Amino acid sequence: MRRVLLTGGSGFIAAHVMDYLIQRGYSVVTTVRSTSKAEKIRAAYPKIGKDRLDFAIVEDIAQDNAFDDAVVSNPPFEAVIHTASPFHFNVTDVQRDLLDPAVKGTTGILKSVVKNAPTVKQVVITSSFASVVNPYKGTWPEHTYTEEDWNPITLEQASENVANGYRASKTLAEKAAWEFLQQEKPSFSLTTLCPPQVLGPVISHLSSLDNLNTSNQVIRDLIQGKFKDKIPPNATFTWVDVRDLALCHVLALEKRLAANERFLVTAGYFCNSELVDIVREHHVRLRDQMPAEGSDGGGYPEGGLYRVDNSKVVKIMGISWRRLSDTVMDTVKSLQNFQS
Ligand code: NDP
Repeated sequence: MRRVLLTGGSGFIAAHVMDYLIQRGYSVVTTVRSTSKAEKIRAAYPKIGKDRLDFAIVEDIAQDNAFDDAVVSNPPFEAVIHTASPFHFNVTDVQRDLLDPAVKGTTGILKSVVKNAPTVKQVVITSSFASVVNPYKGTWPEHTYTEEDWNPITLEQASENVANGYRASKTLAEKAAWEFLQQEKPSFSLTTLCPPQVLGPVISHLSSLDNLNTSNQVIRDLIQGKFKDKIPPNATFTWVDVRDLALCHVLALEKRLAANERFLVTAGYFCNSELVDIVREHHVRLRDQMPAEGSDGGGYPEGGLYRVDNSKVVKIMGISWRRLSDTVMDTVKSLQNFQS
């Protein structure tokens, strides 16, 4: 049984990664910030023993040596999946709240593995399409994004606004990971996954829809009637289902050709008016919350949109994508469980 360290187990994406790891027979230790978070995850897996699912407390990944103890395990780890990184916009200080946990968290775990976990042979990091897209090119209709593209954002631009802060946090963290690999030549391989907007059912603990993870908030707002007067424009036009992305994290451990590769993990394109149409068609009881049929707004950009080439992940991981309508329906169902 292979033992894997998964960081940020309380997160939206990590919960699904954990699910796949357990389903596929791995033994998982996940880091969380507190024992109360560990207890909530433990309660969701009553039949899984401590040998298959255990916890390590890492309160703040931005601290020096934060992972030094967490990477030590008996039996020892063979792989690390690093998902923990802030993805929210409740930020007062971009450096402290976004850049430090993203960049120091990433370099920190790599350093801790080198120092204390020599049995680790594979590291997978959840990066982002934010580290790929060039925000200064806008919709860039003549361009096709591939794994060769890097967001040119600088540290100075990071502090211009919170959106830039998040994009820079992911770009600089992923760059730092590849630089670490080049300079330190560790005995593990690195795989980075770059998903755009991740949609899908929530299986992590959630006290209320007010605390919903950032990327699903568009679907929450839609079913709460916030699009009734005007369908807002998209922040991102590409998406992936959280379950497909989570499976890619695990496949990255299982597919030899995924070692030392970067992957654009996207199912395709969406716009907010498509979300409206799906909910209107499949959730009759929510129709009163939807904008009137034929309402303006929320479409694709008039001048066209960049393309995104996902052929590498399809070829190497052998993944097939869920359809947007299934993802949206499953997400709505899961959010309805949390509606008060
Ligand atoms: P969540 O907010 O649900 O999960 C983030 C996780 O990181 C949580 O477990 C959180 O812990 C943990 N975390 C954040 N900051 C710290 C810190 N300073 N110290 C310790 N733990 C911390 O977001 P997602 O699941 O959506 O995101 C997971 C990863 O995927 C992130 O790296 C994100 O950048 C990336 N990503 C997400 C996309 C999306 O659309 N969802 C798109 C592209 C990339 P706690 O809950 O206790 O705060």
